Amino acid sequence: MRYDAESMNTILVVLAHPDDETFIFGGTIAKYSKLGFPVDLLILTSEHSNKKNTELRDATKILGVRDLHRLNYFPTPIDTDSDVDSGRTLSKVGVESVAAEIENIIGIIKPGIVLSFDPTGVYGHPDHIISNQSTRIALQRYIRIDSLVSLYEISFARNLISIVAYAELFLQNLFPRIYLGSKYSFLTNKLKLLPPITTKIDISSSLKVRQGAVKAHFSSLEAGPWYLRMFEKIPHYLRQFIANKENFVRVYPEQTDFDDSSKFVGLYRN
Ligand SMILES: [Zn+2]
Repeated sequence: MRYDAESMNTILVVLAHPDDETFIFGGTIAKYSKLGFPVDLLILTSEHSNKKNTELRDATKILGVRDLHRLNYFPTPIDTDSDVDSGRTLSKVGVESVAAEIENIIGIIKPGIVLSFDPTGVYGHPDHIISNQSTRIALQRYIRIDSLVSLYEISFARNLISIVAYAELFLQNLFPRIYLGSKYSFLTNKLKLLPPITTKIDISSSLKVRQGAVKAHFSSLEAGPWYLRMFEKIPHYLRQFIANKENFVRVYPEQTDFDDSSKFVGLYRN
């Protein structure tokens, strides 16, 4: 056991790809960095273009990330059928070995809080799902040594998922031929699987910083799904009302009901 305040106040975000930190956790990272909490990222993949790496570096600087750690797995290609199985592809390599590497890093950083994906991988990306599973395993092992660490998994508001799911269904009916690959059934199934949100982080004070990081990830935004582009186009004055929270479920120590205080439990100074 250690009661080192610096360490206990450290937040580690475990991610699959560069840009996850901005689009999915950006408001929370920016908020806690600004408040003086050290926020580190662990990105499980590292095969990316120079352009993407530059964008990541700029975005992390804007968000105020302290240290960036990377494992050298390859991202799983999702748009192509080409099965690029290099033996290091994240979704193929086996959750145990990824977990062991995550556990090592956690042992070095000794964070008070770990943030990661939910079991559905936010929108079903196989790399996000592996990130979730391997982070849970790593944490379970680590908790035996140090029980002070908490794990929070990102979650989305039900109404937001419903809107996206119905919009996809609508578009698919309208353009049955051109609109392929709907995630409608995935999203509606997800609604049934989602555990209740325990923690809503108010990110209204960091929305502008988050938007700066979004701009830095220009190429990801261009290549992203339509609802991401639409979401990121919401103007600031509206965003303060409809996109001012990032929601989490506390998994370790387990929590099943909503906590009004909506803070990360476990930080030394919160
Ligand atoms: Zn991702």
